[in-house]
Amino acid sequence: MSTTTAAPQFDVIIVGAGVGGAACAVAFASAHPLRILLVERHAGPGNINRGDSLLPVVTARFSAWGILDQVHAAGARPLTCMQVFHHRAGLLLDAPLPTPGSHAPYLVLPHPDIERVLAEAARATGRVDIRYRAHVHRLVEHDGRVHGVILTDPAGDHTMTARLVIGADGSASALRAALGIPLARASYDHSYFGADLDRPADYADAMRIELHPAGGILVVPGRNHVAVAALIHREDEEKFRRLSFPERLSLIKGRSPLLTGCQAVSDSGHLYQLSRAHAQHYTAAGAVLIGDAIHLINPTAGQGMTMAIEDAAALARHLGPPLVTGAAGATLEPFLRAYEQERWPRNASQIRWSHWMSQFYAFGGSWGDLLRQWVFRFGASAMGRRVQQYLWTRMALGKAVH
Ligand SMILES: Cc1cc2nc3c(=O)[nH]c(=O)nc-3n(C[C@H](O)[C@H](O)[C@H](O)COP(=O)(O)OP(=O)(O)OC[C@H]3O[C@@H](n4cnc5c(N)ncnc54)[C@H](O)[C@@H]3O)c2cc1C
Repeated sequence: MSTTTAAPQFDVIIVGAGVGGAACAVAFASAHPLRILLVERHAGPGNINRGDSLLPVVTARFSAWGILDQVHAAGARPLTCMQVFHHRAGLLLDAPLPTPGSHAPYLVLPHPDIERVLAEAARATGRVDIRYRAHVHRLVEHDGRVHGVILTDPAGDHTMTARLVIGADGSASALRAALGIPLARASYDHSYFGADLDRPADYADAMRIELHPAGGILVVPGRNHVAVAALIHREDEEKFRRLSFPERLSLIKGRSPLLTGCQAVSDSGHLYQLSRAHAQHYTAAGAVLIGDAIHLINPTAGQGMTMAIEDAAALARHLGPPLVTGAAGATLEPFLRAYEQERWPRNASQIRWSHWMSQFYAFGGSWGDLLRQWVFRFGASAMGRRVQQYLWTRMALGKAVH
């Protein structure tokens, strides 16, 4: 860290304009007259696909921020049902996805478009200055508290100061490291291979799971394509890595009749290593973290983006009002602690729940295959539908599942 005593240039600096950081800028700026700097090392909103699902808890949040129309205008598609197929047994479950107690829709939109909509909405408030190609590599400190950042952009190094510095810089967070907050990871024994394929002609807009003993495939619809995420067991991973992209694709397509005739939209896919982790603390030295910087989760339940956005919303709710009244330094401490106390137990519950869901989904061999067939068939029964509705409602509304 380096030291400064000058008056701060901004009220809030947010490092990282991924979904969490961009949502944080919208959450602060849509409700509070604050000067905000959003810093991103990349040239613009992301181009990697890391989850498209906007659960009702998130779309309700977007509605409150006044940006749901922009999400629809960007091409978001509503999903109203979930279907589970088995590669031999066919359709096991076709369940509607209404969420009792909420009118918010379940939408899907490619991850880069979600980042783009959020960044544009933040800028449109007139309160957020976004700097792309700007890499934060050091924190600025005064009296033992973080007071700003040093960023490098094509013009050189710049010291930027603020009353609050927020790290939304993802799983390899440099801010977390600089603050000395550890994040111990537990690796999963499976990974996900993600790729975009042509949309099958007869494919209804459904969240679809294709079960196969070698590893299930999650299929998410887009306008002209489907995004697929295929589970790869650890024992198969080395062999999978040696395959060319067309060979990988043909192996994945062999697991699902739906995908048989589909071609890839681009000539590459991505193999995601998975782990789970939860930092003991979200705040140190007056700075604070949100999103993947403090928690990593198995993506099977599709909750990571929701957690980052809910962190952002909670942080703005706790810190916005004191910042507007001019609070700074140690006077912000109780509000930072309130944010951590609100979010930590909820995030812990989501990590635990997603972990158990992933164990069920990744349980290998013919026993795992039989168990999943039995559970999804039960889900189609009258009693199973009630259980499934309960679980879906808790997930859709971002509540803990016990
Ligand atoms: C395969 C896969 C599928 C997933 N599916 C889903 C899903 O369906 N639903 C869901 O809700 N979640 C899903 N997730 C999880 C979700 O993508 C993440 O939890 C979420 O994107 C975290 O957002 P974030 O903003 O905290 O971090 P990130 O998205 O990692 O953003 C961090 C940003 O900070 C920038 N940055 C980093 N360091 C610096 C620096 N020093 N200076 C400036 N900028 C910096 C990065 O460039 C990046 O833009 C999935 C994840 C994976 C891997």
